[in-house]
This record gives sequence, C-alpha cells and structure tokens, in this order.
Amino acid sequence: MTINVKTFAQLADAASALSQERGARFLAGGTLVMRALNEADPSIETVVRSTDPLLAHIAVSSGRVELGAGVTMAAILAERELSFLHPVARIIGGPAVREVATVGGNLFAHPPYGDFAAALLALDATVQLAGGFGQREIPLDEFLSRRERSNTLVSSVAFRRPPGDSFRFVKVTRTHPKGVAVLSISAQVPLTSGRISGARIAYNGMGPTPLRAKSAERALEGRALDAAGIASALAAATDGTSPSDDAIASAWWRREILPIHLRRLLLGAGHA
Ligand SMILES: Cc1cc2nc3c(=O)[nH]c(=O)nc-3n(C[C@H](O)[C@H](O)[C@H](O)COP(=O)(O)OP(=O)(O)OC[C@H]3O[C@@H](n4cnc5c(N)ncnc54)[C@H](O)[C@@H]3O)c2cc1C
Repeated sequence: MTINVKTFAQLADAASALSQERGARFLAGGTLVMRALNEADPSIETVVRSTDPLLAHIAVSSGRVELGAGVTMAAILAERELSFLHPVARIIGGPAVREVATVGGNLFAHPPYGDFAAALLALDATVQLAGGFGQREIPLDEFLSRRERSNTLVSSVAFRRPPGDSFRFVKVTRTHPKGVAVLSISAQVPLTSGRISGARIAYNGMGPTPLRAKSAERALEGRALDAAGIASALAAATDGTSPSDDAIASAWWRREILPIHLRRLLLGAGHA
C-alpha cells in the first residue's frame, strides 16, 4: 500500500490536512507511528508532518510553562528550568527514543506508555488544539477522555509551574532500572502553613488513559503530609481506577501495590 506523506510549514495547514482526511495520521517523533506503519496498519493512508518551529518552542516563566507538542524528552532534559520534569522524561525509553519522542505523542500513547501525559495531568495542564477554526484550549483530562475520536492537531500544552519541590513522580517497574511500567504515579502536593492544599495525583497504567485520583486528592485536603495525614487518601487510592490484566501485571496486583507506592511517594520514603 502506498502512503502519502504531506509536510507543511505552517501548523494551521497541517491541522486542516489532518482533519480533512480520515486516514491521515500526524507524525511527530514516530516512535509509535513508525511501528504502526511497519506493521502495515491499514487505518493509515496519509502521514501529515509539520516543520513549524512553534512545535518545538519551550517558554518558562516564574508562573507558567508552555511546551510545544513537538518538544522532545531530550529537549526537556536539556532545560534546567524544567528539572522537576526530568525524572519523568528520563524514564521514557532509552536515549534514542528520548531524542525523538515528543510531548504531543505521549498524549496519545496507550498503557504501558503515557507517563508524561499523566505527569501533565497532575500539573493541571491544558492542551492547545490547532484547527481550521483557529486555536482552542481545553483541560487535559477532557482531551484524554475523547482523544481516540479526535483527528485534531495538538500544538502545545501549558501549566502553572509547581511551587518548590511539590511535584513528585515514580514509575513502578519489575525490570530495573528501565523496564516497562507496571504503573506510574505523579503527584503535586503543595503545602500552605504545613497543610496540603490543592493536591493533584495522577496515575498511568490504572485505566485506559492516564487518570486523576480525585478521591485521594480530596482526602488529602487540609491534612498534614505525614503518615496519619495521608491514611485516608491511601484507603481511597484505587477509587475510580480500572486497570487491566496484561503481560506486565494483573489488575489485582496493580491495585495491591498502588497504595504502597503512593505512600512512599507522598512521604518521600524512596522510589521503587
Ligand atoms: C522502546 C520504547 C520505550 C518507551 N518507553 C516509554 C515509557 O517508559 N513511558 C512512556 O510514557 N512512553 C514510552 N514510550 C512511548 C512513546 O514513544 C513516547 O512516550 C512518545 O512520547 C511518543 O511520541 P512520538 O513523538 O514518537 O509520537 P508518534 O509516534 O509520532 O505519534 C504517536 C501518536 O500520537 C499522535 N500525535 C503525535 N503528536 C501529535 C500532535 N501534535 N497532534 C496530534 N496527534 C499527535 C500521532 O498521530 C500518533 O497517533 C516508549 C516507546 C518505545 C519505542
């Protein structure tokens, strides 16, 4: 089968090409798309690319971070201002994958992949969509709930920079140091006068898309960040999750280990 490759200098033109053709697929780093093409995925008839420099831009100010969808994991690791995200970017594949794998591509990755998207969820990120209608910004959780049905181009993501060392991440794997994830947990736990205020917790591998642990977040509100303060959040840790049984782990196992790793992450007691 012949695949058409269309390259556009402007994001808006790439967005229209993507939305107009049913069999069109955007190519970013290609770590997942090229695998699909090599497997002769019949749903891909056209590959859409864009050379627009907007895709690769990184803007960091004291209050806000904006990442173009084409920013790679390697580019994140090279940016000191994004050091809170380095533990997440560092565990995505090996050096060759990180050199090309993008932020935008990770938003579409299915478990066991999608760790960066889960981290963005814990950062309360929004997604900027490009289309014939212009730019549109939507919350990441809304985007994730309907990403399979959209043939929309993501141009960037944005979020407020987390205060101090309030952002934490752990990837749980059975094969050390860099095996595929059983699950990962991202958490933003800001403290106001020694009490947790506005915690955000997100999981990858605990459902078909990255998801927020809203019951656990509520249980943390106003509590101290200590063993007693987090007890009810741990009891609610698996609420709303729907992990699957797969070759990496069973759903039962994922539910069993999640509160243990959440406890370690929140109390800073070391990683898996
Ligand atoms: C060996 C290996 C190990 C990996 N390990 C991990 C891991 O540990 N954790 C993890 O989270 N991921 C992992 N990944 C998954 C993955 O490669 C990356 O997470 C990555 O971010 C995907 O980005 P990409 O740019 O290569 O996407 P592509 O392969 O180019 O695209 C993936 C999908 O996203 C769509 N897409 C990409 N960009 C856009 C955009 N801007 N707008 C609209 N649609 C878009 C594409 O059309 C396609 O459907 C691994 C992959 C490999 C091959």
